[in-house]
Amino acid sequence: MTKKLITIAIDGFSSSGKSTMAKVLAKNIGYAYIDSGAMYRAVTLYCLDNGLINDAGEVNLPALEAAIGDIKISFGVNAETGATETYLNGENVEGKIRDMRVSGKVSTVAAIPFVRRELVKQQQAMGRDKGIVMDGRDIGTTVFPDAEMKVFVNASAETRAQRRYDELVAKGDTTVTYESVLENVKQRDHLDTTREESPLRRADDAVELDNSHMSREEQNKWMIDLYEKIATR
Ligand code: C5P
Repeated sequence: MTKKLITIAIDGFSSSGKSTMAKVLAKNIGYAYIDSGAMYRAVTLYCLDNGLINDAGEVNLPALEAAIGDIKISFGVNAETGATETYLNGENVEGKIRDMRVSGKVSTVAAIPFVRRELVKQQQAMGRDKGIVMDGRDIGTTVFPDAEMKVFVNASAETRAQRRYDELVAKGDTTVTYESVLENVKQRDHLDTTREESPLRRADDAVELDNSHMSREEQNKWMIDLYEKIATR
């Protein structure tokens, strides 16, 4: 049966496993995958590297606003691993944007209205031709309110912190503690849900998935089943 080309929006709390699910789904159905969180992380890295944010999290707003047009974010596929990687002004920053230095400041930067306006514009341009899976916080509500498939992924803060902690340790991070990751997850949940500009919330027409007690395989099957149902309608 022929399938409709659709737009897929996957939102949820940090470390809910949404990126992994989104990536696998995109690969399985031959869609492009965009990690919108990586874009906010890249802008945050830019701020850190250029002295536009201090330790207290205060951002030099006029300087960032002047620079925002010059911050070019793109994605490339790693020829060896097949994974999508993030580029900031031509430099591969995939390794740098995932560390705690960036995680600790990203929700502050992501709450700035002109940053969101710029990145949402770029995300909408990327999805113009459909056939895209994008994950983030406001994809189903703000970026693609007309997406045919919307999923809102949730799991307890403790489950999510454990996942992120295991990931960082597997990458060789020897300094991180579970408590600091849990603290960061809770802090970002708070900032993401209470900010004024497009706060994290489930779109009214999104299907909610609590994956606290689901295996990777079960989650991937759940996603593809939902896609099949929507795209063959
Ligand atoms: O998805 P990830 O955890 O990498 O996102 C990092 C941060 O970027 C989030 O905690 C949130 O503050 C911000 N974000 C956002 N809107 C999106 C994606 C991410 O505000 N669409």
